[in-house]
Amino acid sequence: MSATQDKKLTDIVIDDLMIPSEKVAHVQVNNPLEHALLILVKSGYSAVPVLDSSYKLVGTIGKTRILNTVLGLERFEMEKLFEIQVQEAMNTDIPCLTKSDSFMEGLKVVINYPFVCVADEDGYFDGILTRRVILKQLKRDYYTFKSNM
Ligand code: AMP
Repeated sequence: MSATQDKKLTDIVIDDLMIPSEKVAHVQVNNPLEHALLILVKSGYSAVPVLDSSYKLVGTIGKTRILNTVLGLERFEMEKLFEIQVQEAMNTDIPCLTKSDSFMEGLKVVINYPFVCVADEDGYFDGILTRRVILKQLKRDYYTFKSNM
């Protein structure tokens, strides 16, 4: 049975819905951009979390940011993929949730982001919450409510 099977939306917390860290593709701050691009292209994800050597969340990195970083005046300077580290190109201005935040907190954040990182109060990475999971839960709740009318 899923963690949210019999729960009302108001009782669901982020921990019930998140993809746990061990199932999340990530890159590290000191990886070259070439490695990050490889992970992104192979996984098919548009962006992934960036962690430091102690597995604390420090940002996210996506394909568009990588390509913008190596974009020169007239061409993509692909040799830069090997010279520039993820920490020089990553986005650090990101929202973050904790496992105990409510469903509604998660819903508010995924309006603007396809996924949101989840970390504990010390910054250690716990996982991600995706917009897909929030929408699936809303759909389930809608049909459950309808069939109870
Ligand atoms: P989805 O809702 O599954 O389409 O995922 C939306 C976005 O969340 C993806 O494009 C990725 O940026 C991120 N994402 C989803 N699942 C994972 C995962 N297992 N590892 C890393 N990033 C993920």
